[in-house]
Amino acid sequence: MQGEYHGFSAQLSNVAKNQMHIRCYTHVLCLVIGDVTNKILQSINLFGILNGCAVFIKESHKRIDFQNPKYPELTTFALRLITFDLFTLKHLNKLPMCEVGFEFLGAVDCVQCFNYGLILHEWEIKDDPWKEHAYHSPVCSFVQLKKATNS
Ligand SMILES: [Zn+2]
Repeated sequence: MQGEYHGFSAQLSNVAKNQMHIRCYTHVLCLVIGDVTNKILQSINLFGILNGCAVFIKESHKRIDFQNPKYPELTTFALRLITFDLFTLKHLNKLPMCEVGFEFLGAVDCVQCFNYGLILHEWEIKDDPWKEHAYHSPVCSFVQLKKATNS
């Protein structure tokens, strides 16, 4: 790369005569894209949104801060929902069960928290999955996180 992005190597040579500068073309590409896109409003908006998405994803572990879940493969709602494919009890809604962190264990109405491994069964129609989860496993960080985000 020649031109305005060539200056860094020249400055390094002034400071350290024996330096060997290896160009990072990814960085150069970022500089060029930054210069080009800073001049068009639509591209400024697009890259602003992309940057916002990147920050959102990068920081997501802070919003979902589970400490060593017992079943890390079931941390997402969608994966827990798959375990309910064979769930046949009509008086229980599987969606709230998944939402509160439970997976179906495959027998009758046995469910298990992916985070701490709490197993619950013998559900009654009046039972609220969140209340039962919080009551039987108040130290579960998934329960604590949900309480913090709802309050
Ligand atoms: Zn739990």
